[in-house]
Amino acid sequence: MIDFELTPEQRAIRDLAREFVRREIIPIAAEYDEREEFPLDVVAKAHEVGLMYLQVPREYGGQGLDHVTGVLVSEEMAYGCLGINGGVGGTGLGLTPLLLAGTEAQKQELLPPLCERGGLAAFCLTEAQAGSDVAAIQTAARRVGDEYVLNGTKRFTTNGGIADLYTVFASVDRSLGHKGLVALMVPGDTPGVRGGKKEKKMGDRAAHVAETVFEEARVPVSYRLGNEGDGFRIAMQTLDYTRPGVGASAVGVGRRAFEEARAYATQRKQFGRAIAEFQAIQFVLADMAMSLDAARLLVWRAARRLDQGRPSPLESAMAKCFASDVAMRVTTDAVQILGGYGYIREYPVEKLMRDAKITQIYEGTNQVLRLVMARQLLRQL
Ligand SMILES: Cc1cc2nc3c(=O)[nH]c(=O)nc-3n(C[C@H](O)[C@H](O)[C@H](O)COP(=O)(O)OP(=O)(O)OC[C@H]3O[C@@H](n4cnc5c(N)ncnc54)[C@H](O)[C@@H]3O)c2cc1C
Repeated sequence: MIDFELTPEQRAIRDLAREFVRREIIPIAAEYDEREEFPLDVVAKAHEVGLMYLQVPREYGGQGLDHVTGVLVSEEMAYGCLGINGGVGGTGLGLTPLLLAGTEAQKQELLPPLCERGGLAAFCLTEAQAGSDVAAIQTAARRVGDEYVLNGTKRFTTNGGIADLYTVFASVDRSLGHKGLVALMVPGDTPGVRGGKKEKKMGDRAAHVAETVFEEARVPVSYRLGNEGDGFRIAMQTLDYTRPGVGASAVGVGRRAFEEARAYATQRKQFGRAIAEFQAIQFVLADMAMSLDAARLLVWRAARRLDQGRPSPLESAMAKCFASDVAMRVTTDAVQILGGYGYIREYPVEKLMRDAKITQIYEGTNQVLRLVMARQLLRQL
């Protein structure tokens, strides 16, 4: 039996997020997008009401919620602003390796202080020469006694330079390729860690995305997740857990675009009647709603697999890839339904279209995700 009903707790937290977004995010989203600035006070408020650290167990200071609840919150937050959700989601992404591969002692030491003060985390995988090709990572982790000495520059880090805790993927031996990668937890106040160039972006503009630079930064060996050589596996497992959340955020952006377009279509009159009365517009609205529902179902299925302790690289990749393609199409359709006004910044849909694009790129481009899917599908023969 398949049950699409949410539990009372899941509904309550989704409603809390929806109300938070209505009150705290929607009124300021356009302004922060324009200023290309991340509103740290909104994160503080999200923390206050219990919308941060959703998947961190309660004993470490988090909310201890399931992944289905996590994707419900992601959808709501991105409905308000993908960029603002990015800083919150970037924190979840940064902490997932520790949750999956950390020891009890590492979690006890690193998580409670961060969750207590409402700090941000970040995930440092991408480099200039290592995007889709993670094995090409050049950031070096040189072992010296009980420490690793980190040197290198990470690119496009969400929360880069403003995070309190980084998960950094580095190489202990470049000749080993992906087998030489190590995952290290690096506190933001470690000497030799700093933010580099902050990016100016097409969309996702309220998110703080920057280089993270490591110059002779010393990290205790006790902050290593797993063993040397486990870094690649930890990074890939992390993405299996976080891609459904990206899919959910894409659904949120798409749902907002659908609702804006539907409202506009019922108000805007041409040729003596509301444009919603034209079948050409009705069919587009129907397709938008249908594909958003399909995307949400894939996202929920992938999240449920995580809650069952059966993460599926295939289903997580499908959820993120399909939902982000839907978001791109639906937001483009919304701009079309608003006509010239859709292209004007005073109306919200051009931002949604700019925001949707990044969901097809980060946490694995949709081409790379199709490779992930194909690998899994062919393995099943
Ligand atoms: C706003 C933003 C936020 C981000 N946040 C983070 C973050 O927090 N942490 C982090 O580590 N990274 C982050 N990233 C980086 C992001 O994950 C990468 O940009 C992405 O993985 C793609 O890498 P790349 O840009 O180097 O593209 P490339 O890997 O150079 O890809 C270029 C093109 O080639 C295609 N391609 C590459 N390899 C193949 C292949 N084998 N087969 C078919 N096609 C292929 C790609 O699909 C793409 O179309 C962020 C990026 C942005 C823009």
